[in-house]
Amino acid sequence: MLDLSSKELTYIPGVGSARAEILKKELQIFNQEQMLYYFPYKYVDRSKFYKISELTSNLPYIQVIGRFQSFQMVGTGRVKRLSANFTDGTGILELVWFKGLKYVVDKYKPGVDYIVFGKPSVYGHQISIAHPDVDPIQNAQTTPTMALQPFYNTTEKMKSHYLNSKAIQTIQGNLIRSIHEAIPETLPPDMIKRYHLIRLHDSLLQMHQPTDAKTLKQARYRLTFEELFYLQLHILRYTLEREKKYKGYPFERIGAYFNTFFYKYLPFELTGAQKRVLKEIRNDMAKPRQMNRLLQGDVGSGKTLVALMSMLMAADNGFQSCIMAPTEILANQHYETIASFLQDMDINVALLTGSVKAKDRVPIHHGLLSGEIQILIGTHALIEDKVQFRNLGLVVIDEQHRFGVEQRSRMWRKNEMPPHVLVMTATPIPRTLAMTFYGDLDVSVIDELPPGRKPIQTVHRFDNRRGPLYDFMREQLRAGRQIYMVYPLISESEKSDYKNLEDGFKHIMEVFPEVKVAMVHGKMKSTEKDANMQAFVKRDARILVATTVIEVGVNVPNASVMMIESAERFGLSQLHQLRGRVGRGSDQSYCILVTSYKLSEESRKRINILTSSNDGFEIAEADLKLRGPGDLEGTQQSGVAFDLKIANLAKDGPLIEYVRTIARSILEKDPELSLPEHLVLNKQLSKLFAKKVNWGVIS
Ligand code: ADP
Ligand code: MG
Repeated sequence: MLDLSSKELTYIPGVGSARAEILKKELQIFNQEQMLYYFPYKYVDRSKFYKISELTSNLPYIQVIGRFQSFQMVGTGRVKRLSANFTDGTGILELVWFKGLKYVVDKYKPGVDYIVFGKPSVYGHQISIAHPDVDPIQNAQTTPTMALQPFYNTTEKMKSHYLNSKAIQTIQGNLIRSIHEAIPETLPPDMIKRYHLIRLHDSLLQMHQPTDAKTLKQARYRLTFEELFYLQLHILRYTLEREKKYKGYPFERIGAYFNTFFYKYLPFELTGAQKRVLKEIRNDMAKPRQMNRLLQGDVGSGKTLVALMSMLMAADNGFQSCIMAPTEILANQHYETIASFLQDMDINVALLTGSVKAKDRVPIHHGLLSGEIQILIGTHALIEDKVQFRNLGLVVIDEQHRFGVEQRSRMWRKNEMPPHVLVMTATPIPRTLAMTFYGDLDVSVIDELPPGRKPIQTVHRFDNRRGPLYDFMREQLRAGRQIYMVYPLISESEKSDYKNLEDGFKHIMEVFPEVKVAMVHGKMKSTEKDANMQAFVKRDARILVATTVIEVGVNVPNASVMMIESAERFGLSQLHQLRGRVGRGSDQSYCILVTSYKLSEESRKRINILTSSNDGFEIAEADLKLRGPGDLEGTQQSGVAFDLKIANLAKDGPLIEYVRTIARSILEKDPELSLPEHLVLNKQLSKLFAKKVNWGVIS
């Protein structure tokens, strides 16, 4: 059977050892199979020919047929260029070269018809194309009719060795011509039939030499389908394995703790979404397998309460639980919220953070070991080996993307059987990404805010007109409200950023002498930071000047204005997080995005998305489309990177869901993939995922 992965690049005509070396270094292509899977990033329709008189500068790539009239060297030395007049009788097109001048003059002859291809631009009144593709017309006719010309990404280094897109196209052509057998199919025949796919062999060839747009589309579909299908099959198979391996403690009872809280102390009605999510969690934890659930909910949607009530379920079943937060401020806040919710109940809650003194830790360590402490709230300090529980049944991780894979997995080992795990995030991850990056986590979504919240009004202002902004702030202060002012911090070490922050702080104190202004940033001692933060929480300070340390989770319902300086320097999701610090009370809140007058197109787009939407998921989707999944906040640290060759997580969402159901139904029927018709799946999986990721412990 043909195996292109064992064939060397140098067997392809036109690829010598030098080129093979460059392909290895620059593109990590080591064999013929990898070469064939190096797909074009775009295709240009070459079925249409233009007349030179029709050309304008706003056309994409075009082609014309004509002859060379004259060549002319222009300029001297390093700025020398070659200019040629090219005509088809309807007008004159200037062709320009800055490199390889001598080669061009020698190669192209007058009196011969050529096809010229490139992107036209205008200088003065002259239409010109720089570095066009030029082919003698006879040549064009002898190559297979290539209506759609593929374009391949190449690096600078490749280009300097004449390995440009055109050269890659030629290499692919030579490779394809040297293939005399069918490329072995990688999907079972009945799947191909059932889902109306075209064969792998044809798809691969079509990608490089498409016959027409329709067939190319089928080829792309087949390959995208396959790539996403195998990814889902891989993830789901791990999930099944994990379910078998990791038994869990069944929490069968809903008892006095939960019921007393729910009927007696819960100060408000749960939202529909909170109820639904609690039911999902309850069902999960009632089973004798470990829960591994991701709880997504926009800022302010009430995740803490869901966490608390889940912990009460653990307590009802005689188990301890803990909640781990990424910062000390947040841990303190959780502690205060939870302790006050539970103040009239007979349940033991403790706080453990880095700043708890050694001697005060001793009783906590004891209380955990004896089981006296039922709920523990803290920071990374919880991970330490010294922290041991009598019977930890549930771990809640708040703002999970702030924790590394390793940190999270260490919580798993605090017990004989791993505890149930609930990870929470306010960074909404689009469904398609969640299914890919956290494929084996079950996902719950709180998609509803508690009633009575007014949507935050978001506006964009330029930083050269501050008068009206300050007037507005003063009005809010007079009405008793509080204000956040956030400054960007690109890197912790950047001195100038702190200067901005400190200058801003001084300036604001001068502008608003009537109120107390506090400042917090990451470089402060934590005692000082906490004191300043507390001053704001207690309404003693009315304006808080800060860096993004306040981004996560801080809750001051009386704050009604979030003003973000140099907003263009923040990411979309980050801006949304910051905005979520206001709008937590019943008053109308405002978010003011202050930017400089000069804004890039991309920054403008981001600002517009924020001023027009309050929906975290919508914003995350937009972010994904603007930046691509690799950059998306919350995914970098998932510990899993995929090298997708053709699928696009931002665009192929519906297809991901579709192939996921297919993969699931196959695994339901044949979990080991041992039926004869599934052998090909098994083989392909081990080939694609030779490097095993332990999905079981990524949460
Ligand atoms: P999140 O962690 O999801 O950003 P929080 O748990 O901090 O949100 O909740 C935000 C605020 O909403 C808190 O003050 C909380 O007490 C309140 N809250 C939570 N659930 C409800 C509800 N069902 N009705 C009214 N207020 C609620
Ligand atoms: Mg929170």
